Amino acid sequence: MRMRIKTVVVCTICILAIVLAQSAVFGMEFSDVPITATYYNAVNKLSNEGIIQGRGDGRFGPRDKTTRAEFCAFVARANNYNENYYTTSGTPFTDVASDSWAQGYISYCYENGYVNGMTETSFSPNDNVTAEQAIKVVVCASGLGDDSLSKVGPMWYSGYVDVAKKSGLLDGGIYTIGLPATRAFVAQIVYNSMLIKGENKATGTDAVDVSGNRLSGGTTVAVVDSTVTNTYEPEDIWEPTDAEALEREYYQKVQYYGEDYEQYIKEEENSNNYTVADSDNEYEYIPIGSSDGMLIVIDPGHNNSGVDTGATGNGLREQDITFYIAEKLKPLLERNGFQVIMTRNSVKENVSTESVSASLARRADIANRNGADLFVSIHCNAGGGTGTETYYCTGSNDGKVFATYIQEGMLDEVGLRNRGVKNARYAVLRNTNMTAALVETGFIDSANDAKYLGSEKYQQAFAEGIAKGICNYVGIEYR
Ligand SMILES: [Zn+2]
Repeated sequence: MRMRIKTVVVCTICILAIVLAQSAVFGMEFSDVPITATYYNAVNKLSNEGIIQGRGDGRFGPRDKTTRAEFCAFVARANNYNENYYTTSGTPFTDVASDSWAQGYISYCYENGYVNGMTETSFSPNDNVTAEQAIKVVVCASGLGDDSLSKVGPMWYSGYVDVAKKSGLLDGGIYTIGLPATRAFVAQIVYNSMLIKGENKATGTDAVDVSGNRLSGGTTVAVVDSTVTNTYEPEDIWEPTDAEALEREYYQKVQYYGEDYEQYIKEEENSNNYTVADSDNEYEYIPIGSSDGMLIVIDPGHNNSGVDTGATGNGLREQDITFYIAEKLKPLLERNGFQVIMTRNSVKENVSTESVSASLARRADIANRNGADLFVSIHCNAGGGTGTETYYCTGSNDGKVFATYIQEGMLDEVGLRNRGVKNARYAVLRNTNMTAALVETGFIDSANDAKYLGSEKYQQAFAEGIAKGICNYVGIEYR
């Protein structure tokens, strides 16, 4: 049951019907923005406010890019711009024509100090806005900082990103510095900035949107048309169930991997070649008691380049970190009597260059062909969270025990937040014939977790935690 906290006063009997009806209407809005998407609230709120529009065909295009001109329009509309009242005083940009649809928006952002040109006389309105440019503009437009945050050199944006992170402006947003900002990310940060401004603002008589009735966060605001008041509810947040949270994670991954991953998920959903164990079943695992002759396949998640590359954040790449942990894990397991095969033998290696599904299938294949006894896939999480979690294949009792020991091992050695042991039907878990686990060591896009993931000392600690967990599962003393 999802929860929507409403400020509507209704009779108890009506509540359920109203909540369901509203959810259904929201859920219908864009065919490519599922209610499980992290940016669902942001997109629908901004769309309802007339700040951002869909593609006209029922889609929003969450992974599409945004031009610098379009971005100015979103920011302007979210910040009191009103075409009925606004008169531009012009910009110095020769590439922004006076009859351009975006001229007013760009002027507005320029006059308010939210944007600069690419040079003193050019704005490049049709270029895609990059993540760091978008962050800078929204930091300025939110009143969280100004041009003084700019640094000299290629990391000019770092001051803005720091402020944005601390203020919660980037919460739930997925971005890569240097790459175009997706529409989902743009919607998320503009939405976050409205929440932030709302929290800081007592009243806003000037708070209007294109329709003259802009809603401002958390407080009732007087608008230009004084007959209209609105309350914007920052706490109107969808609370996912476990199953919905899992689905949300899929969509976060879609944002990273693009269409290829979406196709992969569809294939996953269409396949039903697994059985779900009765979770109420009493199940007792009997340890093997010896590592003699046991083969473990370690899978450092993702490829160096091409398809199925990992998440990024805080200057780290998932595919590198997973390899560094894996190469530290291998000798620990060998020392404890296991044979070990790696799916990638160097940090530069790609398991497959064909597609995400081929890359994932190949990893399972390596384990199956070699007759491995255990399989561990190593990953870093992303998408705005913190902590460690371990997955087993839905329905596998042995997998659950295996994952639980590994999770405990990592918590003991590293001590990030415990996000628990979860089940999913990830390809490498479902397609491997042996007991398997997939570890999400920490969040690469969390500044805190990234400190651990990027540190050689803690990579070693993750490896030791996993190795100790495996030894506990097998029932031998770790040495
Ligand atoms: Zn991963």
